Amino acid sequence: MVNSNSSATDGARLVVLGAGPGGYPAAFHAAERGLDVTLVDARPQPGGVCLHEGCIPSKAFLHVAKLLREARHAEEWGVTFGEPTIDVDVLRDWKDGVVRKMTNGLGLLRRQHRVQYQQGYGRIRDANQLNIESNGEVLPIDFDALIVATGSTPVVPRSLQIESDRVMDSTDALELRDIPDSLLVVGGGYIGLELGTVYAELGTEVTVVEALPQILTGVERELVRVLERSLRSRLKSVRVNTSVISLSEVEDGIEVVIADKEGVESTERFDRVLIATGRRPNSAGLGLHRTRAHVDAGGFILTDQQRRTAEPSIFAIGDVAGEPMLAHKATAEASIAVQAILGEPAVFRPLAVPAVIFTDPEIAWCGLTQADAAGLDIDASTVGFPWAALGRASASGRNDGLTRLVVENGSERVIGMQVVGPGAGEVIGEGVLAVEMGARVSDLAESIHAHPTLNESIMEAAQVFFGRSPHYLPRRR
Ligand code: NAD
Repeated sequence: MVNSNSSATDGARLVVLGAGPGGYPAAFHAAERGLDVTLVDARPQPGGVCLHEGCIPSKAFLHVAKLLREARHAEEWGVTFGEPTIDVDVLRDWKDGVVRKMTNGLGLLRRQHRVQYQQGYGRIRDANQLNIESNGEVLPIDFDALIVATGSTPVVPRSLQIESDRVMDSTDALELRDIPDSLLVVGGGYIGLELGTVYAELGTEVTVVEALPQILTGVERELVRVLERSLRSRLKSVRVNTSVISLSEVEDGIEVVIADKEGVESTERFDRVLIATGRRPNSAGLGLHRTRAHVDAGGFILTDQQRRTAEPSIFAIGDVAGEPMLAHKATAEASIAVQAILGEPAVFRPLAVPAVIFTDPEIAWCGLTQADAAGLDIDASTVGFPWAALGRASASGRNDGLTRLVVENGSERVIGMQVVGPGAGEVIGEGVLAVEMGARVSDLAESIHAHPTLNESIMEAAQVFFGRSPHYLPRRR
């Protein structure tokens, strides 16, 4: 095993399995620190699901969706555009171009970092050897340390698995073959709502069904309510407590049996169905059973705070190593695992992992909610500032937002932040810094924020805590 002595670590062999936002930063960082690094992935280029068929292409489409929405709204501001004509081929080419540009950039960086790239499927032989299977050939490769960063795959419930081009997962949906007249989205989670919004803005009649009592289960109700109001005006319907029982292909679409809260079944027809019912970690088939590493009941590889498995030479990061399944969590873990391999005393113990749902409006949060805090016996209060009172939000015609701070009573430290509104994903960055740095609510209230900006809502929320926001006087309870 590699230790902290630099002459011992220099040239030690690290294999990184999986080249997504966990794997490629791990490989680049380790190469910078003097390790001999091979990055292995089944795809011809690094980038993983996030770059090729996840975060980046979906955001390219969401950007266009936002443009279409704003153009429709512009009439209220005295500017009228005609009905948009959408050339799906050009739109898809543009999205592919975005992915290509970033993929090429990553390829260049990989060469600059002198990281070797091996395309193929990696299967662990033992604690120090991996087989790379490619085109019927098997290439064994030895390692001193291995980082498993194999990500996750969409889960499709067995009852919904049918052979049909009309039934899509998120990868198929991002191919944007055409703009269907009607789309059923199964699952009101991150993926269903982000992609459902894209298709709705492109002109598809979108229905979302969610089996549980609310969309975005686990996300604070007050934030979801703001998004829900907006979705209801743009989607055909959002139905909670509703499950999809079965799908069958008919001549002109997919016939779907849907059960409502009472279990009453009805049959409806849609041109397309998008299944977004969750993702599962890619841990099966890796050969982990030939090592001391363990996998939990959900398929996540178990690790310690350094992301080391029970097999000391093997580490796991990203979606395959546990929730939250977010690209930036994987990247942060990558750095910790590399430092651990180098024998440095790093641990993965963030106070704030931001989560962003890139719908319109966006929802973002980090740190603890008041309920989380209560569960940890922390006495906390929540203060909020509605964007109805925010100049910048009014100037963009978008007052549908809210910024909230969770503050520990007594110490007055900021322990969490939640935001809903267009641009919430950018606003949350300041909350992450505040929580990680142990900022007091007075730090946020007294730091001068530029006017007029969305981030001012953070300062104003902090001022609400002291009852001295100039723009908002909450009703006394
Ligand atoms: P999810 O777990 O967020 O949501 C799936 C939803 O489907 C759940 O609410 C579930 O109750 C519902 N469901 C399951 N079976 C159903 C059925 N038969 N009928 C109706 N509803 C059903 O999963 P996802 O949206 O597929 O996303 C997977 C993961 O990907 C997320 O956990 C997230 O971490 C990650 N992701 C993140 C982002 C981002 O950071 N913006 C974007 C996309 C995906």
